[in-house]
Amino acid sequence: QQSPQQSPLQITVEPTSHPVSPDRLAEILASPGFGVHFTDHMYVAEWTPDKGWHDARVTEYGPISMDPATAVLHYAQEIFEGMKAYRHDDGSVWTFRPEQNAQRMIRSARRLALPELPVHDFVAAVDALVREDEQWVPDAAGEKSLYLRPFMFASEKFLGVRPAKHVTFMVIASPAGAYFAKGLKPVSIWLSEHYSRAGVGGTGAAKTGGNYASSLLAQQEALEHGCDQVAFLDTVDRKWVEELGGMNLYFVHDDGTVVTPELSGTILEGITRSSILELCRRLGAKVEERRISIDEWRDGVASGRITEVFACGTAAVVTPVGTLRWNGGEVGRGEETGPMTQQIRQALVDIQYGRAEDTFGWMHRV
Ligand code: PMP
Repeated sequence: QQSPQQSPLQITVEPTSHPVSPDRLAEILASPGFGVHFTDHMYVAEWTPDKGWHDARVTEYGPISMDPATAVLHYAQEIFEGMKAYRHDDGSVWTFRPEQNAQRMIRSARRLALPELPVHDFVAAVDALVREDEQWVPDAAGEKSLYLRPFMFASEKFLGVRPAKHVTFMVIASPAGAYFAKGLKPVSIWLSEHYSRAGVGGTGAAKTGGNYASSLLAQQEALEHGCDQVAFLDTVDRKWVEELGGMNLYFVHDDGTVVTPELSGTILEGITRSSILELCRRLGAKVEERRISIDEWRDGVASGRITEVFACGTAAVVTPVGTLRWNGGEVGRGEETGPMTQQIRQALVDIQYGRAEDTFGWMHRV
């Protein structure tokens, strides 16, 4: 959906009259967990065909009331993003490639027939919220951060099936603890042979709630088999490795080549994935985006041709994959984290926390 252009969108700030107490905030930031505590404010903007984006505000965090006939509750027109704000040692606060999240949200919006929010307004929305809730960004110590969740949904009260004429965009924020509080721990992966995440022509490349809803049963199956995460295959040949429920995959070969499944239209184009491609090229590693079959994964790990497997995404940055398990077998490389996995992870984390020079220009100061 197109809207009349009125960028930049004016943002009104309505500070809360009862922010969190310093004691309570210190308590939360000491062990934030993930996605349980939310900051004092939220960003909200509305869209209608006649006005485009309007009524943008940073306001007190709280429940939103919805008519039972609100379209999103019935037809799932919802898209979202996931990103983080990091505090550097000098106290300054930064986000990582926010314009990439903005652009991905535009691609998701197109697929879900939702209106596009201009890149500038997306970045300004996130900045405005983070500025208002700056004290919620944890200290540079450890790997804590402020997780940011921009999302958009059809807020029109209407049961007809068509693109909505009232859409709401919001940003909420939640402090996040170090993903691996006790050091890097390899994850085990369950191969989902029965369920699929996305089909050709479907919504796999969009970051939309439905993709996650449809992955939950497979994720449950993974847990039942003692695994942490699910790997999905393509739906045509049922042999090409796509991605995990919430992370992209990388394979390091014994000749040093780093391989990630190519963008098939059914996987999410992770910003961590793209950054690792650029990082590897800079490090002089040979990188390939190509199809990888499940047999190449299984046989490669068993024969030693594949020396490291890792998953990547905003939440955990880079996570070593220990075991791949399926109905009838498993292969794995035990608990150790490979050198390439370690090197890539460290390089990214150092840039994000301002401990290495940002030669790519990836960091955005809030
Ligand atoms: N794939 C899926 C399905 C995801 O949900 C995510 C998390 N956004 C990723 C990959 C990784 O994307 P990013 O690196 O942008 O976090």
